[in-house]
Amino acid sequence: MTAVQPASATSTTISRRHALGLLGFAGAGVVLGTTLARASTDADAPSLAGVQPGHYRFTIGDIEALAVNDGGFAVTPSESPFGIGEPREKVTEALRDALAPTDMMRLPFNVLLMRIGSELVMVDTGCGPTFGAVGGRLVANLAAAGVKPEQITAIIITHLHGDHFGGLLDANGEVVFKNAGVFMHRVEHDYWASKGDETVSRYLKVFDGKWQLIAGGDKLLGGLEIVETFGHTPGHLAIGIRSGSDYLLHLVDVVHSHVLSFAHPEWVMKFDVQPQVAIATRKRVLEQCAVDRTRVFGAHLPFPALGRVRKAAGAYEYLIEPWVSA
Ligand SMILES: [Zn+2]
Repeated sequence: MTAVQPASATSTTISRRHALGLLGFAGAGVVLGTTLARASTDADAPSLAGVQPGHYRFTIGDIEALAVNDGGFAVTPSESPFGIGEPREKVTEALRDALAPTDMMRLPFNVLLMRIGSELVMVDTGCGPTFGAVGGRLVANLAAAGVKPEQITAIIITHLHGDHFGGLLDANGEVVFKNAGVFMHRVEHDYWASKGDETVSRYLKVFDGKWQLIAGGDKLLGGLEIVETFGHTPGHLAIGIRSGSDYLLHLVDVVHSHVLSFAHPEWVMKFDVQPQVAIATRKRVLEQCAVDRTRVFGAHLPFPALGRVRKAAGAYEYLIEPWVSA
């Protein structure tokens, strides 16, 4: 192997003027500036503001997959749903430790779509009209990826929170995914059916008699395994997806913040219906993922929501999987 010349030797042999010349700057600054000012107006430079791309393609063995964004929400640490009962300063401290912004926490709504043989299987539906302007971008983002709602053949609803089932209906109450079978854990269905929440009841009724009720360990559509991860809601499910030697675990809402849920799995989270059950589930699942080096996806992890879990400082750390262009 040839030795590389140290940087210090390079900088002493090439003068600053020479270096600028190599970069095309030497003596041209003023002239270039006036030429540009005469030839163009502000209107010639396209605005770089606008909406973000909302889909990301990847594979799990032979399964084609698409992460689709439905929007997202922001909260300040003082109104953080994480660490209920803890001093607010601890929340800010944990964010600072992770070099994350301490003024605002942003969490996306992510949907997972998979092509398994002739089936197009979607996990959750985003918010639809239930969360206002912060959600409801799923259908537009599917269209940008070339997928029409009527092409979806199966939808697994992981739990009955609005940001997961709301997209089943549009603002007029019409069914959006007209050709899709709908799946849900039996425990989740029964819990909400007896609870009387107005929005949930309306949705349950529209699909009355059509729900295909499932349970932990059930195998669906040739590659999916239902994994009971109760606590966030009583019948919350995660999904294991296997193809050949590849495996992805969709954690759904076992975790929410890619910082706080991992650094403090023991913290009570405001939207966990059974906080202590949820904490036990979170610890158990994160431990297993860290030991097995499992590739994970999450409903609220930073888009496109793929990564892995590592043990760190008595708790865990989320490592983001790099964005791949092909
Ligand atoms: Zn959620």
